[in-house]
Amino acid sequence: MSQGVFDLFVIGGGINGCGIARDAQGRGYSVFLAEMNDLASGTSRAATKLIHGGLRYLEHYEFALVRESLMEREILWAMAPHIIWPLRFVLPHHNGLRPAWVLRLGLFIYDHLGGRKLLPATRTLDMTRHVSGKPLKRLFTRGFEYSDCWVDDARLVVLNAMDAAQRGAVIQTRTKVVSARRDSGLWSVVVKSDGKRQTIKARMLVNAAGPWVDLVIGQALGINNARNVRLVQGSHIIVHKIFEHDFCYIFQNADNRIVFAIPYERDYTLIGTTDHDYTGDPAKAEISKAEIRYLCSAASEYFTKPVLPADVVWSYCGVRPLFDDGASKAQEATRDYVLKLDGTAQTGAVLNIFGGKITTYRRLSEHVLEKIEEVLGKKHRKWTQAATLPGGDFPAQGFGALVGTISRDYPFLNMRQATRLVRLYGTRAAMILATAKTMADLGQMFGPDLSEAEVRYLMEHEWARTEEDVLWRRTKAGIVTSKADSRALASFMKSKLAKPKFA
Ligand code: FAD
Repeated sequence: MSQGVFDLFVIGGGINGCGIARDAQGRGYSVFLAEMNDLASGTSRAATKLIHGGLRYLEHYEFALVRESLMEREILWAMAPHIIWPLRFVLPHHNGLRPAWVLRLGLFIYDHLGGRKLLPATRTLDMTRHVSGKPLKRLFTRGFEYSDCWVDDARLVVLNAMDAAQRGAVIQTRTKVVSARRDSGLWSVVVKSDGKRQTIKARMLVNAAGPWVDLVIGQALGINNARNVRLVQGSHIIVHKIFEHDFCYIFQNADNRIVFAIPYERDYTLIGTTDHDYTGDPAKAEISKAEIRYLCSAASEYFTKPVLPADVVWSYCGVRPLFDDGASKAQEATRDYVLKLDGTAQTGAVLNIFGGKITTYRRLSEHVLEKIEEVLGKKHRKWTQAATLPGGDFPAQGFGALVGTISRDYPFLNMRQATRLVRLYGTRAAMILATAKTMADLGQMFGPDLSEAEVRYLMEHEWARTEEDVLWRRTKAGIVTSKADSRALASFMKSKLAKPKFA
């Protein structure tokens, strides 16, 4: 940075904005990131939460995308083994839908396209004997088992932002970009935060506003021709757990779509997703009754015990910001990303980002950095492939050992509590527990597991400002938190709200 001028101004604190900010700051560029709400308050909290190649994208011949995604699975797992872990998926063969040989061929390609070292390969299942066959209707006698990974999407965003901040980036939440204009080769970006306006100067702009990307181009940048993105709504429902084992299901539907049923937050099952075009304000997308019925009936096609709308304990919905490639059906629109550079170092350059997946955010960031280097000149080499995220500095297969260490060092925690803290914070769980010798040392409790010490940590290190940030994004404690606890948390946070000290 020179005289208050940043190299890069990043619009949007979703996975793409935070991933780019981290990579760029780590290569020696100075970065300012503005997020209009909370980190991960957009699409990046509403995913199915899979780090996956995307088996069904093979049907759309998206081999390059599937290969890049498959290669990322183990790289990301090693970067953050607390919030990313392997899953085994069961794909039951359904008579009348895709024939078994097609499934077998797809999975063979999936296994061999690249990047699989630790994840186990596909195998064929006799569902009449395998544990995953038990909760399913008797008609499903044959199936296949394959690997992908799980990610806590909202935490992945925050960990990227934390790492960027630790390396020197300025990350400002609740800060909306209202306008950006070129002025003698520099951008003057006007942001609004807590009712106040501020102007930030930067040499280059990165527009990572997800579903708002066209709105930023049209309204904040004042550029016409902002019709690049296709908004596709996707919803999920959560029900009390409908099976006891750790396998996940991928169900084929008669409409050619697929629906996942995944163990979620220990006591629940996550079922999703839908896929339909959306035209309103992305912040206002809501799951419809028709979507709930669709997901219930898709799952009930397979499970012996029907899943009913009345079983739904929570739901969430998000809008995919897909690049508009002109595909006729929402489910066929490409999941790949497109980067469009406008301007030069002399005029002031802006890079607009369309599409992408959580799975490919790190590779997307590397490709964005290639464009940044073209404009601003090269600094340091790429570095993120082998660098862990905060709390992830332990071996990919060392989760159990870390839970053991935390349980030994803090014997007052039960196994559920120790596991929960390591899942959320990895090695940084010890920062929350610090010198505590009893549960009482962790302060006031806001529900069964959420302590004052944890909330303080989230406010000081993770930009948490409201109870919603804590209950639904930094953690999912909201599912089990009573209204009274939630109110107590809100007033505690209000009273403690001080300038966060990011570390
Ligand atoms: P966002 O997360 O939306 O971030 C953009 C941010 O920009 C927002 O936080 C917004 O508040 C901010 N912003 C907008 N305008 C401004 C402004 N003017 N000033 C400041 N900030 C602004 N991917 C996978 O890899 N695996 C999956 O299993 C998966 N499942 C999915 C399921 C569903 C239902 C959906 C919807 C998506 C799924 N995805 C999945 C895709 C993935 O979630 C998205 O591609 C990704 O989260 C998009 O991230 P983003 O950073 O581009 O957008």
